[in-house]
Amino acid sequence: MSEHPRTETVPPDTTPATAGAAAPATGTATAVGRAHAAEAARRDREDPLAGTRERFVVDAVDYPDGTVYLDGNSLGALPRGVPARMADVIEREWGRDRINSWSDNHWWTAPERIGDRVGALVGAAPGQVVVGDSTSVNVLKAVVAGVRLARGADAMEADGRDEILMDVSTFPTDGYIAESAARLTGCALRAVPAGAIASESTPRTALALVNHVDYRTGRLHDLPATTAALHAVGVVVVWDLCHSAGALPVDLDPHGVDLAVGCTYKYLNGGPGAPAYLYVAARHQPRFDSPLPGWNSHADPFAMAGAYAPADGAVRGRVGTPDILSMLALESALDAWQGVSIESVRAKSLDLADFFLACVAAYVPAGAVERLTPVAHAERGSQVALRCADAGEVTERLLARGVVIDYRRPDVLRFGFTPLYTGYADVERAAWVLGEVLSAG
Ligand SMILES: *Cc1c(COP(=O)(O)O)cnc(C)c1O
Repeated sequence: MSEHPRTETVPPDTTPATAGAAAPATGTATAVGRAHAAEAARRDREDPLAGTRERFVVDAVDYPDGTVYLDGNSLGALPRGVPARMADVIEREWGRDRINSWSDNHWWTAPERIGDRVGALVGAAPGQVVVGDSTSVNVLKAVVAGVRLARGADAMEADGRDEILMDVSTFPTDGYIAESAARLTGCALRAVPAGAIASESTPRTALALVNHVDYRTGRLHDLPATTAALHAVGVVVVWDLCHSAGALPVDLDPHGVDLAVGCTYKYLNGGPGAPAYLYVAARHQPRFDSPLPGWNSHADPFAMAGAYAPADGAVRGRVGTPDILSMLALESALDAWQGVSIESVRAKSLDLADFFLACVAAYVPAGAVERLTPVAHAERGSQVALRCADAGEVTERLLARGVVIDYRRPDVLRFGFTPLYTGYADVERAAWVLGEVLSAG
């Protein structure tokens, strides 16, 4: 990727072997000792993904204060190739080529083209993912269209399946949208624990909306088993992949998922407000009946026909004119994944989190934090959530010490691990600073 000059701006107390890792704040190496610092340096040296860090604006060259960024589960870091690509899109494609860019620079087909690249990261064969709109809007499309699919799928159509299930700890927007989707489709909405969603379904259940990873606790829900159990009773499943895409293998096609949505500004690093995506399994596309049938999803949009006729394929999930600037920033951002397997990202993510927890155990006073994220690998995504007293104040103090995390009211600290650019020295330092902050009372 880009050749970035590596100047020696790192403070002198940096462990020399932590190449590319953020520097510890001066004066933190007390007599207690950073028992895990050498181990962090060793793991960074041996990390097969260490090389992808320089594809992002994140290291000590960019942040001479040695900021540790553990908020990539909220807003992914900037991939280095994006600024030049955006300048080109704006100056050449928009400025010079203007309207011809819709065809000559392939703007019109960007939602499907970029959708295929996102699809490759979530286990979807080409032609099933379309990029556009926000996750919230895609939840509406998926839930309403999914209920319509479920109703047409079997003999229940006469009395109608009239219930939507969703996981009770869902990210709020999914719940708000599901409530409206329920009213639009004449369904009742019932919130149940994600792990019980299959056993809670009844012959009346049309659809279940489930978050793959809980945004708050970082708990990973069992997509293969839940999907299979719901399919056995004729329920259509919509998965929200916001906290799993780009963090772990999702394997939509192998697990027979019906519909899925997700955002691209977290682990996919597409930038603030980058467009979301919608997956419609190929087998469902002919009957996918969008509640937002905009002209971009028309079979022949430039016929400007009075009557709606849906396009075939993933295009059917489009609505209006795509937000080209954000979309092409996302496309450039996805270059950071070149040569990277999602399995290697998952392996490092789990290892980073395990190492972080070991550092927390060593550095943080006993009883000061309570872990909300399960320890079992099969049950967690790519963040660690810790509950502690005065979490808002603790977050501010971490920020003041260059450790960027986020806070979920009332008492949760979220540490996000983004293996493409987070190193072991980063998590060791975050745990150390957390320990200092909590020891200070
Ligand atoms: C981040 C997130 C969203 C965000 O929705 P937007 O429409 O992009 O604001 C939705 N659902 C989940 C589970 C999320 O984590």
